[in-house]
Amino acid sequence: MDPVEIELPTYRVIIARGALADLGRIAASATRAHRYALVADSNVAPLYASRVRGALGEGRTTLYTVPSGEEHKTRESWSSLTDSMLADGFGRDSAVVALGGGVVGDLAGFVAATYMRGIPLIQVPTTLLAMIDASIGGKTGVDTALGKNLVGAFHHPSAVIADPDVLRTLPAEQMRAGLAEAIKHGVIADADYFEEVAGAAPDIVGGGRAAAAAIERIVVRSIAIKADVVKRDEREGGLRKTLNFGHTIGHAIELRSDYRMLHGEAVAVGMVIESRVAERLGVAEPGTSDRVRAAIERTGLPATRPADQTPDSILSATRGDKKVRSGIVEYALPARIGAMAGADRGWGVPVSDDIVLEVLR
Ligand code: NAD
Repeated sequence: MDPVEIELPTYRVIIARGALADLGRIAASATRAHRYALVADSNVAPLYASRVRGALGEGRTTLYTVPSGEEHKTRESWSSLTDSMLADGFGRDSAVVALGGGVVGDLAGFVAATYMRGIPLIQVPTTLLAMIDASIGGKTGVDTALGKNLVGAFHHPSAVIADPDVLRTLPAEQMRAGLAEAIKHGVIADADYFEEVAGAAPDIVGGGRAAAAAIERIVVRSIAIKADVVKRDEREGGLRKTLNFGHTIGHAIELRSDYRMLHGEAVAVGMVIESRVAERLGVAEPGTSDRVRAAIERTGLPATRPADQTPDSILSATRGDKKVRSGIVEYALPARIGAMAGADRGWGVPVSDDIVLEVLR
């Protein structure tokens, strides 16, 4: 694969196999930092931290390891990281390097956004989900007892380095969860890409022979789609809401599962349900939800709500979501595979409770 660079207004996303080895040069030119606080979780640190430290320069890099898992994306982890950095004398001439999945990206990103009122951030995503979604767009933050991502800040990275080679160690269920977001990108922006992802998914999840090439194409195309949306709407005033397709119901199901379901699994169910809502409202072309469901099932992702979650419990959990506008929940809904509905109303479609309940039942 030839290296690919995707430009955003204030930073570049570099996609290249073996790019980790080049991190020192990329980080130095993007941040001009003298010291790096490298943050990784307890799974990723033993796999990649020493390689990354070597590339950044051992003497100028301090590794902070946090326990893995969504339950550690908290203010407690944020305060422990910032306290350690203060104790270790990090100043404004330093940068944070987030090496990991979306949990580390969001948490370390929030550290960078707030440490001494903000220092540069380099995102080095190591899950498919983080490469194609979480690391792009500048959203950082932590969870609270009342919901996910409720405390955070926009803080764009100075660079994103996506090295598809690191996905070789990613467990299959995490790969599947990332593919849910790739399917989403196809639904919102590109019908051919949607078919490509659905077609390649079984081979990718099964670690087949064509998997590496297919993954590279997915990383490049999905990042391009997300970057294009983010470029046109940096702070979610409009178009960026389309990226929330599947996420209103998805977040509710994820919350109700006490985060035992992976984000991508919950979003997969959310996309099936929300595309059915779109058809029920007459917003989406007939057959859209069947195609979404078929792609989800081919990928081995769940397509129906968990048996222990009632329609009412899911509906009430959507109310805590950030997408509520004066009491009515707004959804990002497809018009067909490859295009979203609601351009004339800021890309948010209000949906009444009874329709959501009918579909959930
Ligand atoms: P994650 O960060 O928990 O990573 C999943 C698991 O894979 C973890 O156990 C991790 O240790 C392990 N892992 C990571 N890279 C690995 C590798 N290369 N090899 C082996 N194991 C590896 O989860 P995630 O799915 O990457 O991210 C989910 C988080 O991202 C959620 O908190 C979600 O809210 C957030 N998110 C943020 C945005 C955003 O715009 N900021 C967008 C989407 C999701």
